[in-house]
Amino acid sequence: MAYPIRMLDVILLEDETVLREELCEFLTGCGYRVDAESSLEGFRRRFDPVRHGIAVLDLGLPDGDGLSLIRELRARGERLGIVVLTARGGARDRIAGLDIGADHYLAKTSDLDELAATLAALARRLADPSPPSVNTWVLELGPRCLQPPGGPAIALSEQDLTVLHELMRNAGNIATRRQIIKALGDDFLSYDQRRLDTQMRRLRRKVDESCGQILPINTARNVGYRFHAKAVIRP
Ligand code: CA
Repeated sequence: MAYPIRMLDVILLEDETVLREELCEFLTGCGYRVDAESSLEGFRRRFDPVRHGIAVLDLGLPDGDGLSLIRELRARGERLGIVVLTARGGARDRIAGLDIGADHYLAKTSDLDELAATLAALARRLADPSPPSVNTWVLELGPRCLQPPGGPAIALSEQDLTVLHELMRNAGNIATRRQIIKALGDDFLSYDQRRLDTQMRRLRRKVDESCGQILPINTARNVGYRFHAKAVIRP
Protein backbone atom coordinates (compact mmCIF):
# COMPACT_ATOMS: atom_id res chain seq x y z
CA MET A 1 0.00 0.00 0.00
CA ALA A 2 1.50 3.34 -1.00
CA TYR A 3 1.41 6.12 1.56
CA PRO A 4 1.70 9.79 0.70
CA ILE A 5 3.53 10.62 3.90
CA ARG A 6 6.63 9.55 5.73
CA MET A 7 5.69 6.35 7.47
CA LEU A 8 5.94 6.37 11.22
CA ASP A 9 6.95 3.30 13.19
CA VAL A 10 4.30 2.01 15.54
CA ILE A 11 4.84 0.56 18.99
CA LEU A 12 1.99 -1.66 20.06
CA LEU A 13 1.25 -2.60 23.66
CA GLU A 14 -1.35 -5.35 24.09
CA ASP A 15 -1.23 -8.31 26.45
CA GLU A 16 -3.83 -10.51 24.73
CA THR A 17 -1.73 -12.67 22.44
CA VAL A 18 -4.30 -13.32 19.72
CA LEU A 19 -5.33 -9.68 19.48
CA ARG A 20 -1.71 -8.52 19.56
CA GLU A 21 -0.82 -10.80 16.66
CA GLU A 22 -3.90 -9.80 14.71
CA LEU A 23 -3.20 -6.08 15.17
CA CYS A 24 0.46 -6.56 14.36
CA GLU A 25 -0.38 -8.33 11.13
CA PHE A 26 -3.03 -5.77 10.19
CA LEU A 27 -0.81 -2.74 10.82
CA THR A 28 2.10 -4.35 9.01
CA GLY A 29 -0.27 -4.89 6.08
CA CYS A 30 -1.11 -1.18 6.21
CA GLY A 31 2.59 -0.47 5.68
CA TYR A 32 3.71 0.37 9.21
CA ARG A 33 6.73 -1.12 10.86
CA VAL A 34 5.42 -2.47 14.14
CA ASP A 35 7.12 -3.41 17.40
CA ALA A 36 4.81 -5.28 19.75
CA GLU A 37 5.08 -5.65 23.51
CA SER A 38 2.82 -7.23 26.11
CA SER A 39 3.73 -5.39 29.33
CA LEU A 40 4.55 -1.90 30.58
CA GLU A 41 8.04 -3.08 31.37
CA GLY A 42 8.47 -4.41 27.82
CA PHE A 43 7.22 -1.13 26.39
CA ARG A 44 9.64 0.94 28.48
CA ARG A 45 12.52 -1.24 27.32
CA ARG A 46 11.55 -1.19 23.65
CA PHE A 47 10.29 2.37 23.20
CA ASP A 48 12.57 4.50 21.04
CA PRO A 49 11.45 8.14 20.94
CA VAL A 50 13.42 8.79 17.76
CA ARG A 51 11.90 5.96 15.78
CA HIS A 52 8.42 5.40 17.20
CA GLY A 53 5.95 8.02 16.01
CA ILE A 54 2.75 6.36 17.18
CA ALA A 55 1.87 4.18 20.16
CA VAL A 56 -1.23 1.95 20.19
CA LEU A 57 -1.89 1.10 23.82
CA ASP A 58 -4.13 -1.22 25.77
CA LEU A 59 -4.97 0.00 29.28
CA GLY A 60 -5.45 -3.17 31.35
CA LEU A 61 -1.98 -4.73 31.49
CA PRO A 62 -0.47 -7.46 33.68
CA ASP A 63 1.99 -5.11 35.40
CA GLY A 64 -0.07 -1.95 35.69
CA ASP A 65 -2.32 0.57 34.03
CA GLY A 66 -1.71 2.04 30.57
CA LEU A 67 -2.99 5.41 31.78
CA SER A 68 0.06 5.78 34.04
CA LEU A 69 2.28 5.09 31.03
CA ILE A 70 0.56 7.84 29.01
CA ARG A 71 1.01 10.25 31.92
CA GLU A 72 4.67 9.31 32.11
CA LEU A 73 5.25 9.77 28.36
CA ARG A 74 3.53 13.15 28.32
CA ALA A 75 5.39 14.30 31.44
CA ARG A 76 8.63 13.62 29.55
CA GLY A 77 7.30 15.74 26.70
CA GLU A 78 7.32 12.92 24.12
CA ARG A 79 5.80 14.16 20.87
CA LEU A 80 4.23 10.83 20.10
CA GLY A 81 0.79 10.05 18.69
CA ILE A 82 -1.06 7.94 21.24
CA VAL A 83 -4.05 5.78 20.39
CA VAL A 84 -5.73 3.97 23.27
CA LEU A 85 -7.37 0.71 22.24
CA THR A 86 -9.29 -0.75 25.13
CA ALA A 87 -12.25 -2.73 26.35
CA ARG A 88 -13.00 0.06 28.81
CA GLY A 89 -15.37 1.97 26.59
CA GLY A 90 -17.12 4.06 29.23
CA ALA A 91 -17.30 7.82 28.84
CA ARG A 92 -15.45 8.38 32.14
CA ASP A 93 -12.51 6.25 31.04
CA ARG A 94 -12.50 7.89 27.64
CA ILE A 95 -12.39 11.35 29.13
CA ALA A 96 -9.66 10.30 31.60
CA GLY A 97 -7.61 8.86 28.72
CA LEU A 98 -7.93 11.95 26.54
CA ASP A 99 -7.38 14.23 29.53
CA ILE A 100 -3.97 12.86 30.32
CA GLY A 101 -2.79 13.08 26.74
CA ALA A 102 -4.07 10.29 24.49
CA ASP A 103 -4.89 11.55 20.98
CA HIS A 104 -7.59 8.99 20.23
CA TYR A 105 -9.55 6.51 22.24
CA LEU A 106 -10.98 3.48 20.41
CA ALA A 107 -13.03 0.62 21.78
CA LYS A 108 -11.62 -2.87 21.13
CA THR A 109 -14.84 -3.61 19.31
CA SER A 110 -13.96 -0.95 16.71
CA ASP A 111 -13.57 -1.94 13.12
CA LEU A 112 -9.95 -2.39 11.98
CA ASP A 113 -10.68 0.08 9.18
CA GLU A 114 -11.47 2.68 11.82
CA LEU A 115 -8.11 2.03 13.45
CA ALA A 116 -6.39 2.38 10.06
CA ALA A 117 -8.18 5.67 9.35
CA THR A 118 -7.31 6.98 12.82
CA LEU A 119 -3.63 6.12 12.42
CA ALA A 120 -3.52 7.63 8.92
CA ALA A 121 -5.04 10.88 10.17
CA LEU A 122 -2.69 10.96 13.15
CA ALA A 123 0.39 10.21 11.03
CA ARG A 124 -0.59 12.98 8.64
CA ARG A 125 -1.06 15.46 11.45
CA LEU A 126 2.29 14.55 12.98
CA ALA A 127 4.03 14.82 9.60
CA ASP A 128 2.43 18.11 8.65
CA PRO A 129 1.72 20.56 11.45
CA SER A 130 -0.04 23.08 9.17
CA PRO A 131 -3.82 22.98 9.67
CA PRO A 132 -5.87 21.77 6.70
CA SER A 133 -7.59 24.59 4.86
CA VAL A 134 -11.27 25.06 5.54
CA ASN A 135 -13.82 23.62 3.21
CA THR A 136 -11.42 21.19 1.55
CA TRP A 137 -12.35 17.54 1.29
CA VAL A 138 -9.42 15.18 1.01
CA LEU A 139 -9.67 11.75 -0.58
CA GLU A 140 -6.90 9.38 0.57
CA LEU A 141 -6.47 6.60 -1.97
CA GLY A 142 -3.89 4.57 0.00
CA PRO A 143 -5.60 4.41 3.38
CA ARG A 144 -8.95 4.49 1.51
CA CYS A 145 -10.67 7.24 3.45
CA LEU A 146 -12.40 10.56 3.02
CA GLN A 147 -11.34 13.44 5.22
CA PRO A 148 -14.09 16.05 5.55
CA PRO A 149 -13.01 19.61 6.47
CA GLY A 150 -12.28 19.54 10.19
CA GLY A 151 -14.02 16.20 10.60
CA PRO A 152 -12.71 12.72 11.39
CA ALA A 153 -11.59 10.51 8.51
CA ILE A 154 -14.28 8.21 7.12
CA ALA A 155 -13.26 4.71 6.01
CA LEU A 156 -14.52 3.88 2.50
CA SER A 157 -15.38 0.72 0.63
CA GLU A 158 -13.68 0.09 -2.69
CA GLN A 159 -16.87 1.17 -4.52
CA ASP A 160 -17.28 4.37 -2.49
CA LEU A 161 -13.66 5.21 -3.21
CA THR A 162 -14.06 4.67 -6.95
CA VAL A 163 -17.19 6.83 -7.15
CA LEU A 164 -15.71 9.63 -5.04
CA HIS A 165 -12.48 9.52 -7.00
CA GLU A 166 -14.39 10.03 -10.25
CA LEU A 167 -16.41 12.89 -8.73
CA MET A 168 -13.57 14.62 -6.91
CA ARG A 169 -11.09 14.55 -9.77
CA ASN A 170 -13.77 16.40 -11.77
CA ALA A 171 -14.64 18.73 -8.87
CA GLY A 172 -16.61 21.75 -10.05
CA ASN A 173 -17.76 19.89 -13.18
CA ILE A 174 -20.25 17.14 -13.82
CA ALA A 175 -18.99 13.58 -13.76
CA THR A 176 -21.43 11.82 -16.09
CA ARG A 177 -23.25 8.66 -15.12
CA ARG A 178 -21.55 6.90 -18.02
CA GLN A 179 -18.14 7.99 -16.72
CA ILE A 180 -18.85 6.80 -13.16
CA ILE A 181 -20.27 3.46 -14.29
CA LYS A 182 -17.24 2.92 -16.48
CA ALA A 183 -14.93 3.69 -13.54
CA LEU A 184 -16.82 1.06 -11.54
CA GLY A 185 -15.87 -1.43 -14.24
CA ASP A 186 -19.46 -1.92 -15.42
CA ASP A 187 -21.06 -1.68 -18.83
CA PHE A 188 -23.21 1.45 -19.18
CA LEU A 189 -25.88 -0.10 -21.41
CA SER A 190 -26.55 -3.14 -19.24
CA TYR A 191 -26.14 -1.32 -15.92
CA ASP A 192 -29.23 -0.80 -13.80
CA GLN A 193 -29.16 2.98 -13.32
CA ARG A 194 -31.01 2.80 -10.02
CA ARG A 195 -27.98 1.08 -8.51
CA LEU A 196 -25.96 4.25 -8.94
CA ASP A 197 -28.65 6.34 -7.22
CA THR A 198 -28.72 3.86 -4.33
CA GLN A 199 -24.94 4.00 -4.08
CA MET A 200 -25.06 7.82 -3.91
CA ARG A 201 -27.74 7.79 -1.23
CA ARG A 202 -25.71 5.34 0.83
CA LEU A 203 -22.61 7.49 0.48
CA ARG A 204 -24.42 10.66 1.53
CA ARG A 205 -25.92 8.91 4.54
CA LYS A 206 -22.56 7.44 5.56
CA VAL A 207 -20.91 10.89 5.51
CA ASP A 208 -23.81 12.46 7.36
CA GLU A 209 -23.74 9.76 10.05
CA SER A 210 -19.94 9.82 10.40
CA CYS A 211 -19.33 13.54 10.70
CA GLY A 212 -22.69 15.35 10.52
CA GLN A 213 -21.63 17.13 7.31
CA ILE A 214 -23.40 17.20 3.98
CA LEU A 215 -21.46 15.58 1.18
CA PRO A 216 -21.08 18.43 -1.36
CA ILE A 217 -22.58 16.67 -4.36
CA ASN A 218 -25.31 18.01 -6.66
CA THR A 219 -27.39 15.74 -8.82
CA ALA A 220 -27.69 16.69 -12.49
CA ARG A 221 -30.85 14.80 -13.31
CA ASN A 222 -30.29 11.92 -15.75
CA VAL A 223 -26.83 13.29 -16.55
CA GLY A 224 -24.56 12.76 -13.60
CA TYR A 225 -23.25 14.30 -10.39
CA ARG A 226 -21.11 17.29 -9.50
CA PHE A 227 -18.78 17.59 -6.51
CA HIS A 228 -18.99 21.29 -5.69
CA ALA A 229 -16.43 21.87 -2.91
CA LYS A 230 -12.64 22.09 -3.03
CA ALA A 231 -11.21 18.59 -3.47
CA VAL A 232 -7.74 17.21 -2.92
CA ILE A 233 -6.77 13.67 -3.88
CA ARG A 234 -3.77 12.05 -2.23
CA PRO A 235 -2.21 8.85 -3.56
CA1 CA B 1 -5.42 -6.08 28.43
